[in-house]
Amino acid sequence: MGALDYLKDRLKELEEQGLFIRERTLEGPTGARARFDGREVVNLASNNYLGLASHPRMNEAAARAAVEFGAGTGAVRTIAGTMSMHRELERRFAEFKHAEEALMFQSGFTANAGTVAAILDREDVIVSDQLNHASIIDGARLSRAEIKVFPHKDPEAADSLLAETARPGRRQLLITDGVFSMDGDIAPLPALVEVAEKHGAIMMIDDAHASGVLGRGGAGTVDHFGLHGRVDVQVGTLSKAIGVLGGFIAGPRHLIEWLRNRGRPYLFSTSAPPAVVAACMAALDIIRDEPERLERLWGNTRSFKAGLQDLGFDTGMSETPITPVITRDEEKAQELARQLFEDGVFTPAIVYPTVARGQARVRTIVTAEHSEEDLKEALEAFERVGRKLGLV
Ligand code: PMP
Repeated sequence: MGALDYLKDRLKELEEQGLFIRERTLEGPTGARARFDGREVVNLASNNYLGLASHPRMNEAAARAAVEFGAGTGAVRTIAGTMSMHRELERRFAEFKHAEEALMFQSGFTANAGTVAAILDREDVIVSDQLNHASIIDGARLSRAEIKVFPHKDPEAADSLLAETARPGRRQLLITDGVFSMDGDIAPLPALVEVAEKHGAIMMIDDAHASGVLGRGGAGTVDHFGLHGRVDVQVGTLSKAIGVLGGFIAGPRHLIEWLRNRGRPYLFSTSAPPAVVAACMAALDIIRDEPERLERLWGNTRSFKAGLQDLGFDTGMSETPITPVITRDEEKAQELARQLFEDGVFTPAIVYPTVARGQARVRTIVTAEHSEEDLKEALEAFERVGRKLGLV
């Protein structure tokens, strides 16, 4: 008997409830078509919105930086791990987001969690959309502030919670994802900003799925709604449209200075290696030089979403390149994903606890790289499997 044996029982429970996660293995670079578990498939599972993850300019930038500057930095940023390229990338991200300054984190997850935890104390309150990302929830817990959750995209409910929890000297944070990762819908940011301003609350947005996707030149949700200067904290990830790894915070200088001093992942975890930083910089160049990528992403989004809807699938509230196909039933979602994969299309099943029970789905993400042929093939597979499973 080992002290960890209870985990075996927990794993058995997950298995019985159809919640055990089996990850597929990518055998080669990611792309619109990729090889997973020995099978060539149309890949609708990656967050590689602009097709940059294995773009030759990115690969070359990464390789060159590794040769010239080494594989690792050897320290956290605040001790000896800041290179001039980190600073240059941050300057570029501030510009990209039309913000005063920006700060790089090791991931979008640590950018969110580290920032929420750093700017609030136990006396404060966080008012958070019900479908916000796990990293916001973890940051909220770490801050020890009171957490109030409002129903998805309900600014009036957020307004009431801010009114109810207001006390003299208490700081309030209103926080939302820009694009919601499991439904692909966009936050009602103009209304939320008004609510935040009315209460003097800090307004923060997690733009992981909107950076490089929404707004002019992919500047994000704030730009999409023309709300520059009215959102205090913008979070971006470098692992989705940017195609590499990392996260960043964009905002006023005093916020960034505070995070350099009190953002725990920034202070206590080693900085990004040169290959990562150089590839991120190349991504910003490509986004600037090849604006047609963003157009192709949205063209593919419109045609694929319409294709799924015409077949009769339930695509929920989606309005971005993330389009769920909602089966509700957990087993059905798993079966749909399994049979689509057999048919040459990779879309992951998303079940509880990632979404609520009874809200199971497969999630599709199109990218700028998918050709008409890729999407046509994928829709044909959805039609065949959907019919077989009685979904359409
Ligand atoms: N926020 C949202 C909404 C996300 O979907 C993700 C990625 N799953 C993150 C933050 C974290 O980003 P990263 O993968 O860079 O840690």
